[in-house]
Amino acid sequence: MRIGDEYDIVVIGAGPAGSTAAKFAADKASVLVVDKHREIGSPKRCGEGVGIRTFNEFGIPIDKRFINTEIYGSVVYAPNGKELKVRQENIMGYVIERKIFDKYLATDAVRNGATVVAESHASLWKEDGKLVGVKVKHQGEKLYVRSKMVIAADGVESQIARDMGIDTTLVPYEADSCIEYEMCGIDFDEMDLLHVFVGQELAPRGYVWVFPKDDDRANVGIGIVGNEKKTAKYYLDRFIAKRPGLMQGSILEVNVGSVPVGGFMEDFVKDNFMVVGDAARQINPMHGGGIYEVMLGGKLAGDIAGKAIEENNMDLIKNYAKMWESVRGQRLKKVLKVRNFIEKLNDKEIDYLADIWSGEDLFELTRGNYVSVFKKIIKHPKLLKMAKNLILS
Ligand SMILES: Cc1cc2nc3c(=O)[nH]c(=O)nc-3n(C[C@H](O)[C@H](O)[C@H](O)COP(=O)(O)OP(=O)(O)OC[C@H]3O[C@@H](n4cnc5c(N)ncnc54)[C@H](O)[C@@H]3O)c2cc1C
Repeated sequence: MRIGDEYDIVVIGAGPAGSTAAKFAADKASVLVVDKHREIGSPKRCGEGVGIRTFNEFGIPIDKRFINTEIYGSVVYAPNGKELKVRQENIMGYVIERKIFDKYLATDAVRNGATVVAESHASLWKEDGKLVGVKVKHQGEKLYVRSKMVIAADGVESQIARDMGIDTTLVPYEADSCIEYEMCGIDFDEMDLLHVFVGQELAPRGYVWVFPKDDDRANVGIGIVGNEKKTAKYYLDRFIAKRPGLMQGSILEVNVGSVPVGGFMEDFVKDNFMVVGDAARQINPMHGGGIYEVMLGGKLAGDIAGKAIEENNMDLIKNYAKMWESVRGQRLKKVLKVRNFIEKLNDKEIDYLADIWSGEDLFELTRGNYVSVFKKIIKHPKLLKMAKNLILS
């Protein structure tokens, strides 16, 4: 396979955001996707929990090759051990195999007309200050690829947008720092639910997750606020050490990474350049779930980029931020408000909420529907005051 010299659009990064953007852009334009890794989807850096709507909305087949477990609900464990459980009869989501899933999304982009090339590290190519394409280091070769547009989908550490003059820097508070072990040989109950453990003592601002991949295998991970002095590994190892059913397991894989949960960018576009996905902080700030969000951000970007090429009108992409804001941004900003409320609580207050809220209430909160849920806080003066401020802001 040879990378061609010229495309309408080059997408940097073949994660879920990049492959989805490429798939939709390829309806109307010639598209190249480059990824620096030798294998798309690897390393995984993910708990691999995905809601059913990602499959429904993006027409992804229920393919055993990338589905490990059917998930019927979740349990959130408060610091005092109280369980907020939701269990449904229907499948609510899956724990997937990201390495195969991401490759499937790239395959889907290729089958829709895009060209995808792994082991290709890209940087921006500018002439007289104008973006004219990308420079690619591909298997020891340095190639220049001309394009009318570049889409950066290069993940949370995004350097590309910064090189274009868009500030994507995250201060430590704005990111959760994560570590995860894929463990096998564990003994854990209800391996058809997602398990989430919360509490400031346990995981400052974040949570520990046990996302089952088999009856005896799960992703066991943690995300904590990025400016916490102790490491995520310290908290995760301490959590596991207290649970013999996990302690007995072997570690098949260790993944580290961060999640940009601190807020949203105002704009994602500069001239003939767009940024999407984690690189653009398109993520649910409550639980850090990004797969659905970045695919949605990627689809919107791919659609508008393809249209701009087809109509030879680069100004069209200036509407991207407004489009994302109305389709998704406004909702995610509500979720961020709830997260900002919850992160200020101590463990006693979290226990109090666990007594008055249900598992369904938590679901509503992750969707940004908080008014009716917060009305339940009438008997706790401090929380009521905080909730009032949240509702009025
Ligand atoms: C520990 C952890 C657990 C998570 N768990 C979940 C979960 O259970 N469910 C969920 O929905 N989300 C989860 N997330 C979030 C989810 O993984 C991300 O939101 C998602 O992967 C972001 O997709 P993306 O395409 O924007 O970026 P990525 O998936 O990060 O893809 C970016 C791609 O860009 C490539 N790249 C970077 N720079 C260059 C360059 N210069 N040239 C070429 N290629 C480049 C990289 O190789 C990479 O393949 C988790 C995240 C972490 C860190």
